[in-house]
Amino acid sequence: MEKILCVYCGDLFDPSPRHKNQTACKKEECQRAKKAAGQRHKMRTDPDYRFNQKVCQRQWVEAHPGYWQEYRKRKPEKAERNRILQAIRNRRARSNQGDEKMDPFLIAKMDASKHDNFEVLGQFWMVPVIAKMDALKVNLLKIPVLYP
Ligand SMILES: [Zn+2]
Repeated sequence: MEKILCVYCGDLFDPSPRHKNQTACKKEECQRAKKAAGQRHKMRTDPDYRFNQKVCQRQWVEAHPGYWQEYRKRKPEKAERNRILQAIRNRRARSNQGDEKMDPFLIAKMDASKHDNFEVLGQFWMVPVIAKMDALKVNLLKIPVLYP
């Protein structure tokens, strides 16, 4: 059988004759990436799955009080990254606010005191080379340096 390309690592591999439309090789990181992609897809497309995930996550957080506070202390760079991504999600949600109410689950940490206060360096337009595509307005934010 002809070798096929793994979409996760780009290596060629021998596909299993028992699995049609195989996209990932056997490597553990590729299998893990494939599983994560499948879960992300399910979160986007399956409301029941999404609801169950949220309920389970809530239960886990309630069973492990202080975990996320400790995590943010342990990994301030991850906390900062999350703050930046949350600011982007907030802006996106604000600009999409129409008749749909903002999903409170969009906010990863609702009691965060520090949010959305990044120094804005300016607004720019990303103009695509392909004429048919719309120009994209972007905000460039200064990411605070946590470690020298
Ligand atoms: Zn692979």
